[in-house]
Amino acid sequence: MLTLEAGPRPALVLDASESAAKLAPYLRSLAEGVIEVMPEASRPRLFFLGNPQPFDPAVFAVHGEQWFAQNAGRGSFISPIFEQLANEPDTAVAVAGAGRIFDLPDWHGHPLAETAVWVKAGPAGLTDGAYAEDTYACEQLAERLNNPAVRVEISGEGVMPFFWNDPAFRWESGRLVGSKTAGTLLFGTLAPETDGVKAERIQANGTRQDLALTPAESPPAPSWFKLPTGEYNLLNQCKRQGRYQCPACHTDHPFGQFHCSRPGTRPIFPTIDPLPRGGFCFIDTSAWETKYRYHQCAALQLAPDAVAVRTADGGAEIVRFDGRTNSWKPSGERLKVLHPLGHKIDAMVL
Ligand SMILES: [Zn+2]
Repeated sequence: MLTLEAGPRPALVLDASESAAKLAPYLRSLAEGVIEVMPEASRPRLFFLGNPQPFDPAVFAVHGEQWFAQNAGRGSFISPIFEQLANEPDTAVAVAGAGRIFDLPDWHGHPLAETAVWVKAGPAGLTDGAYAEDTYACEQLAERLNNPAVRVEISGEGVMPFFWNDPAFRWESGRLVGSKTAGTLLFGTLAPETDGVKAERIQANGTRQDLALTPAESPPAPSWFKLPTGEYNLLNQCKRQGRYQCPACHTDHPFGQFHCSRPGTRPIFPTIDPLPRGGFCFIDTSAWETKYRYHQCAALQLAPDAVAVRTADGGAEIVRFDGRTNSWKPSGERLKVLHPLGHKIDAMVL
């Protein structure tokens, strides 16, 4: 199981030192503008050079002038802030000011320094030529700082997800990928090695961070329900020819179209048609009464080394484990309309 958490809030570092004293009104309005245009949840924490204390952006408009005055005596040092942020190296940081930051060379090669946005506010540069410095409008700087988590990827050598409980995720180029970045995700994987599964959060600026995984119980299997014989007989026609003769309009409809296209006709698959699409369905014909079980996931394990994955065309492709390369590969085989799994149980896409 995976608990998804939002990425760190960005940080805007302002220079209130003597070298930037004349620029304070400009830096204040820049910070105010950035705070205003950014979504509340991703507004930057504010820092002043030389001071590890973060300031609350929500009250910057009221207290900004006072904060500049309070921090004016501090020197142009970045270490107190970078030390504060060192355990969250993916934080998007912008530093705005004028005049050399004396301890910046100490941070050479550190992700915080290497990825920071250096905002030039006066004639004297901040980085002594070590990094590119530029002037920014509030909107531009906000865009550079806005670094939300955009997706989560689950991958690993020889790893194949065969179950996950959120339809926002899909299997794509060998990875389970989802744009959901909050809440939890329960998933199951097949892999020759159990510890090879890796989950990563990807931020808008491309940085990746490992997410912690915790073992979880498999979810209970959904129940079996009776499938009316009429519906099963139509599915059986589909198994043979990929289509069925509609009992309502007497023309042929393709498998997958579980209602008549003629308006006002009676439901022809009253059991199957209302089920949500995008997953699979098991059909059990072992007893006198046919039963079905819904499987609400875009992947279905068929065998220890085979998983069916839904494809964009409405079908499903079989992905197989290749022992020579220790990886899972699309086989090009399509899942049959009623795909036998053994013991008189078939699977089909829904
Ligand atoms: Zn029809």
